[in-house]
Amino acid sequence: MPDARCLIDRYASYLPVTERTPRLTLGEGDTPLVRARSLERETGVSEIWLKVEGQNPTGSFKDRGMVVAVAKALEGGARVVLCASTGNTAASAAAYAARAGMSCTVVLPAGQVAAGKLAQAIAHGAHVVAVRGGFDAALAVVRALADEGEAALVNSVNPHRIEGQKTAAFELCETIGDAPDALFIPVGNAGNITAYWKGFVEAAKTGLARQRPRMYGYQAEGAAPLVRGVPVAHPETVATAIRIGNPASWKGAVAARDESGGAIDAVSDSEILDAYSFLARCEGVFAEPASAAAIAGLRKRARTGGLGGAKRVVCVLTGNGMKDPDRARSLAGDIPEVEATPDAVRAALRA
Ligand SMILES: *Cc1c(COP(=O)(O)O)cnc(C)c1O
Repeated sequence: MPDARCLIDRYASYLPVTERTPRLTLGEGDTPLVRARSLERETGVSEIWLKVEGQNPTGSFKDRGMVVAVAKALEGGARVVLCASTGNTAASAAAYAARAGMSCTVVLPAGQVAAGKLAQAIAHGAHVVAVRGGFDAALAVVRALADEGEAALVNSVNPHRIEGQKTAAFELCETIGDAPDALFIPVGNAGNITAYWKGFVEAAKTGLARQRPRMYGYQAEGAAPLVRGVPVAHPETVATAIRIGNPASWKGAVAARDESGGAIDAVSDSEILDAYSFLARCEGVFAEPASAAAIAGLRKRARTGGLGGAKRVVCVLTGNGMKDPDRARSLAGDIPEVEATPDAVRAALRA
């Protein structure tokens, strides 16, 4: 019986899978689309929807592509999966490898991975190695290891990742009844913007959608190679998931931008953190800083009148806020500690 919670089953006809492909699943995909009324009031856009990808099994959209990549690796007889990661790819690879009975090696940029993501990789039993350098250096290392045939590479340079990730575009078209007018999405290694665009193009071809959205990708100012047009040697941003200086899917991102009539732009760390707080406090949705780059981009574009009349907008919230507890904690100072009496608590609240 096909399993409705299994992404591979649900979208088998759109994916590079056969009956022999293992039906690996942790219940990925089918994530909520939540209306963002506070953002609508602020920006004047008629309809804004949040695609809450943090509700995936390991808390990010990476699960959509990872389930396909790991299933195909298993089908091909691999015993080990390998990836470089700013954190979420590692968490996802570790979980799906565990599920598949495979082993997993992750190579991380030392000191640049959010606590929740590292905890996940460790909990799922991955072999974790940190390298001195950024994500781009870690990716170069795993590419070399994979070339030597040591394991199946499951970074987004693996085309099965992009195939799995494009299912999010299908879900949007199914839920809304068409593609939105515009899609806002954070851009790091640029696999996801490439995947969404591929999904929307296929949706328009198969009749799942009548139109294709304008694609608006957002990088952090300190890590904006696509905006500057050249790689950034030392990318810096609080949004660690998009701290990438030389995106592997550079061409895919540029094609998505140009073919859709959209843009790839940069937002500052303070705009990202503002949007991060706004989402959590005014919409009740806790997404990680990288995800908030899409919201910061929408707010900026709305302020400068650059929305081209878009009425229905979707923002992709790529990862769960709980991934990066230190960032959230840093927004408040000391939490008052008082005697366990109503009077003491009341006094503390008044202070
Ligand atoms: C991976 C990731 C991104 C960036 O996606 P790319 O496909 O690398 O552009 C953005 N946000 C979160 C939370 C991520 O995990």
